[in-house]
Amino acid sequence: MEKEIILTGDRPTGKLHLGHYVGSLKNRVQLQNTGKYETYIMVADQQALTDNARDPQKIRNSLIEVALDYLAVGLDPAKSTIFVQSQIPELNELTMQYLNLVTVARVQRNPTVKEEIKQKNFNKSIPAGFFIYPVSQAADITAFKASVVPVGQDQEPMIEQAREIVRTFNSLYGDILVEPRAIIPEESVCSRLPGTDGKAKMSKSLDNAIYLSDDADTIKKKVMSMYTDPNHIRVEDPGEVENNPVFIYLDAFCSDKEILQEMKDHYKRGGLGDVKVKRYLNEVLQAELEPIRKRREEFAKDLPQVYKMLFDGSNVARQVAAKTLDEVRCAIGLEYFRGMFNA
Ligand code: ATP
Ligand code: MG
Repeated sequence: MEKEIILTGDRPTGKLHLGHYVGSLKNRVQLQNTGKYETYIMVADQQALTDNARDPQKIRNSLIEVALDYLAVGLDPAKSTIFVQSQIPELNELTMQYLNLVTVARVQRNPTVKEEIKQKNFNKSIPAGFFIYPVSQAADITAFKASVVPVGQDQEPMIEQAREIVRTFNSLYGDILVEPRAIIPEESVCSRLPGTDGKAKMSKSLDNAIYLSDDADTIKKKVMSMYTDPNHIRVEDPGEVENNPVFIYLDAFCSDKEILQEMKDHYKRGGLGDVKVKRYLNEVLQAELEPIRKRREEFAKDLPQVYKMLFDGSNVARQVAAKTLDEVRCAIGLEYFRGMFNA
């Protein structure tokens, strides 16, 4: 039986953080290691440029950081094809073909894009490339005929958009493309991890992240200054655990659910101070992140090797995308000269 195909990726707008880790990276590594899938992991530099065109150096610098984060968490070039989006120009042509199948109103309705437009303060000056990035994401997914896309919750509207494009394309031109499905972490705290400031989403762009590469001191500082329940003023006061990011992180990272339940009960009753809970969270995070950081340091000793991995992966990915693009061109009927003039 043919293997199912996975495609997913990250924007190189900074280093990867805990949100990426629980939202998507963990799932990918686990799926990769089952051996049941053909896995493609993309550094989405072209997509990152849609809202960073004036700062390409940031994208260049982040490319290698994201690649190191990948290797550090256990993505393995022997098992997964790790590649760079901008090195696959076929993706751009696919995007152009799909743009004709999507209405402006449909793109405007995308809730994640709407939220990001607000968050980025674009007002009326939204770059057109940014506005249509869900369509280019559909090109990325379908170029590899991926059926499985492990992502965080904010990506759900993108996958839905991709599914619609596939259905429209296939009904117009024949069964060429594959409909993808998103794999989102079952635990809602993982599918959208909040920031250390309590804001709805930990994000590289919001300066509220704990990075996989942060050193032990930095992690501790960030944890100890995290936002908690603002009404939990004295230790004796009863506290709230529901919208409290310290407890949300414990839900996402603490494997001893019994201890966690006891702490939650104690906090709700009153008598458990924030400092104690934060110290415990710090221990849990240090234990999870230390081996990742160590592996990252090892890989960082040989950066040319990491660039070589991206180069090799991009060459493999380009061949796959070129084959799909050829099928797409033929399906639309653009192969005018095939068989003529030695074409
Ligand atoms: P940017 O602000 O530049 O968009 P980002 O932090 O949102 O950066 P992306 O590269 O856009 O990161 O997202 C990569 C993947 O990580 C996506 O699958 C996304 O759903 C997931 N992800 C990002 N942030 C979180 C989060 N806070 N919780 C869970 N998953 C997340
Ligand atoms: Mg994002």
